[in-house]
Amino acid sequence: MNRILLLPGDGIGPEVVREARAVLELVSRRFDLKLEFEEALIGGSAIDAEETPLSDATVARARECQAVLLGAVGGPKWDDMPVDIRPEKGLLRIRKELGLFANLRPASVFPALAAASSLRPEIVDGIDLLVVRELTGGIYFGEPRGRATVEGTREARNTMVYDEHEVARITRVAFEAAQGRRQHLTHVHKANVLDVSQLWMDVVEEVARDFPDVELAHQLVDSCAMLLVREPARFDVIVTGNLFGDILSDEAAMITGSLGMLPSASLGEGGVGLFEPVHGSAPDIAGQDVANPLATILSVAMLCEHSLGASEAARAIEAAVTGVLEDGHRTGDLVLGDENVETIGCTEMGERVREKLS
Ligand code: NAD
Repeated sequence: MNRILLLPGDGIGPEVVREARAVLELVSRRFDLKLEFEEALIGGSAIDAEETPLSDATVARARECQAVLLGAVGGPKWDDMPVDIRPEKGLLRIRKELGLFANLRPASVFPALAAASSLRPEIVDGIDLLVVRELTGGIYFGEPRGRATVEGTREARNTMVYDEHEVARITRVAFEAAQGRRQHLTHVHKANVLDVSQLWMDVVEEVARDFPDVELAHQLVDSCAMLLVREPARFDVIVTGNLFGDILSDEAAMITGSLGMLPSASLGEGGVGLFEPVHGSAPDIAGQDVANPLATILSVAMLCEHSLGASEAARAIEAAVTGVLEDGHRTGDLVLGDENVETIGCTEMGERVREKLS
């Protein structure tokens, strides 16, 4: 049996994970994936019930599974908690504990949704890129870190640090992804100012020798941010560190239209993959059955592909999502306040996808 751990989390997390689970159960029957589901707490709901955003017991269960499907964490109820036990710590911890160093975030435009982008249709046309972000190193984890008051003046520091092995392994993931796509990789850096980026530059060039079929380009992070809104279709795969990747993957996400459409995968050397929508817990719409479940459903497609080796199931889910959108079904986030378009809720959107699949 392939064990799948569900971590619905907070806000709309449980709603979107419920729909995605039902999709996974359906493809499991259709493609004989032999799945078995378990559920545990993460984030605010775990703080409330277990006094920690991610318990040791949940980490141990995750290690025993083939894949983890996560909803989202956080919400105003926990905003004033001390930094060390905030919901986001649960997310950071599970990534670290499972050694998930590679975060894959595809951003492509569904033709039926091209109008939802804030960019002009001719610029949006053909966007199909993948941001590969290093997830367990860099400035979010580097030491020393912290705040202090020195001679009456408050100061704070974080440290950006990478070693060559960390850079090489994420670069390999990105090159391999590019090989399966349009054979183009852009390495994003700030080598004109950062020593860390100079190391990345050297290591990326060294790894590139093993991938002569992939064309490599280096791009400064500031100009990459500009190009993403001016000529997004020029990018195939982008590889970068944790901080730049965090920002650029959100930028790439927004040019495609809605946060509610964007899946992600986090992979490591240990074999357990973590799959989650890019969006947060959306407390403003939680519990109303209006959230868009498609990002989580597309994350399930990535789960099939990367953790179960079930590409056929992945393609079937993607085709079902495309079909539902082409039929004109929309959740509220996809209509940009256009009151003339009839919208459906989270449960109904999930049902429509399952109808297409069966
Ligand atoms: P958010 O992504 O939760 O919401 C931003 C906006 O997008 C909101 O208006 C929301 O209603 C809308 N939205 C998001 N997902 C949607 C969906 N599936 N369907 C329809 N509309 C959707 O970001 P935020 O408001 O900045 O953060 C809310 C909470 O989520 C905070 O506590 C934050 O820390 C947390 N957060 C968690 C994650 C995560 O779990 N990975 C990521 C980002 C933010």
